[in-house]
Amino acid sequence: MLSEIRKDYFLNKYVIITPGRVKRPRSVLTKTTSIKSKFCPFCPAGVEKNLVIKTYPSIKNKPWSVMVLKNKYPVVTLKNYKSYGQHEVIIETPEHNRELSELNSKEITNLLNVFKDRTRELSKNPKINYVLIFKNEGGGAGASLNHAHSQVFSSQILPPDLTEEFEHMRSYQKEHKKCPYCDIIKKEEKSPRRIYADKQIVAFAPYASSYHYEAWIFPRRHLDNITNLNEKETSVMANVLKKILTKIYKINISYNFFLHQVVSEKNQHFYLKIQPREAVWGGLELGSGLVVNSLAPEKAAAFLRK
Ligand SMILES: [Zn+2]
Ligand SMILES: [Zn+2]
Repeated sequence: MLSEIRKDYFLNKYVIITPGRVKRPRSVLTKTTSIKSKFCPFCPAGVEKNLVIKTYPSIKNKPWSVMVLKNKYPVVTLKNYKSYGQHEVIIETPEHNRELSELNSKEITNLLNVFKDRTRELSKNPKINYVLIFKNEGGGAGASLNHAHSQVFSSQILPPDLTEEFEHMRSYQKEHKKCPYCDIIKKEEKSPRRIYADKQIVAFAPYASSYHYEAWIFPRRHLDNITNLNEKETSVMANVLKKILTKIYKINISYNFFLHQVVSEKNQHFYLKIQPREAVWGGLELGSGLVVNSLAPEKAAAFLRK
């Protein structure tokens, strides 16, 4: 199969899909090795009490279901006007050896509800313009601790990438009188890149995927952030997330996921982005900004849909 340059739906970003390169010989192995240590700062016995912000009630016979901590090594703080914001850790389960994908749908739904709660809480501060909830799973994705956790980063500044995206979004809306994502969902749910679609939620591998097995999960409704998801949408999103992460976990690839949302801009379409980190970017990507992806999103979707 020949390579193909693909442009993002509406951003000035390009990806070169190169299916032939999957077969190229490899003599370098990427492997995640974890360091075994007895002490875990995210296990109920290891948590530092003065870091605890909130615990969420248990849904099993455990002391709590989810715990929110102050990040001990924060990137931003409320005291630092030069790098203002808040940085929290969300411990996804009290059980040390359970991956997020191994939690049941009810537990993942509970976690999404915690994401809503943190978004609501942090955006009460009028100085905060941006709340990012994200997860690094595996060494290849920047995770430093094994115990299942995600993080919340909130800041005064809106990252330039998002500001740029809004500008493109606004010009699309001016021209088409519609949100680009509402249009994209309608197209992709009928495309070979569809992973899942029902009345509430649509998931697909984006046309110009930057990463192997990249997947986006959208509520059908045009909602600007996770706090507006209703109960049904939340539980379906949890199921779809579980399904996709289980597949990625089985093939042993590190991943990041994050919520694409902004609290200071109402006209947005919230979604969840999963970006597995199988391939490491080389000089071509860093030098040109063009991303090479050797796994066609159509193939990725077929795998994730099964
Ligand atoms: Zn632990
Ligand atoms: Zn929309």
